[in-house]
Amino acid sequence: MLKIDLHIHSILSGHAYGTIYEIMKYAKSKGFEMIAITDHGPGGSALTSRSHFMMGSRAPKDYEGMRVLWGCEANIIDGDGNIDLDEFAIKQVNFLIVGLHTETVYKDLGKDKNTEAIIKCFNKYPIHCFSHPATLYYDYDVEKACQAACDNDILLEINLTNLVRLERGSRKMNVDNFKKIVDVAKKNNKKILVNSDAHFLHEIGDDTVLGRFRDKLGLDDSMIINNFPEELNEFIKKKNDQKV
Ligand SMILES: [Zn+2]
Ligand SMILES: [Zn+2]
Repeated sequence: MLKIDLHIHSILSGHAYGTIYEIMKYAKSKGFEMIAITDHGPGGSALTSRSHFMMGSRAPKDYEGMRVLWGCEANIIDGDGNIDLDEFAIKQVNFLIVGLHTETVYKDLGKDKNTEAIIKCFNKYPIHCFSHPATLYYDYDVEKACQAACDNDILLEINLTNLVRLERGSRKMNVDNFKKIVDVAKKNNKKILVNSDAHFLHEIGDDTVLGRFRDKLGLDDSMIINNFPEELNEFIKKKNDQKV
């Protein structure tokens, strides 16, 4: 069980089922140190709006001693790498995840241009984490995208929900792409963030699938930043301080 899980969806994502208070209560009962509520950006959910993310300054910062981050899993919306949150809303969010998703306004531009869109995005926003780099909702060069993340000090994610999907034989998942995430992180001397991407309470922090893939992926505990809370907190703060 993780003690830090920074990718959790609430009922506001439209296809997730816990309220923010149920999520906090559940995570606290499981002994979590820190969680992030990261609902889909306004371009990926009919239920989130810019004003939801603007509530960051008023949102709970902790729950009975467990740190709570007001996050967003924003969507890349075009070939220039723009995302569905403006600069002012980004400032109100204290954990920013970005990824490419279907059911958004993004139009498939083909492998090269999709890769370019990701790189452009990473070069211009204060992003904490690249969500599910191995999940190709649109085709892109996983190595180049992960390298751009490392170049911009953006954490690569091992997404537990998508590891489960890989294990179940999803055609969108390929173990080699997961391996590429670990290889690029190693090459750049970067740690990896492990997140559940929970949409149900019972998925929060459940990392049992990781045990079955750890060796295959070449991932050891010293590489997982969830095991180093101080370093992770410092990283989050440093990124947030970059926002002008
Ligand atoms: Zn996602
Ligand atoms: Zn997600």
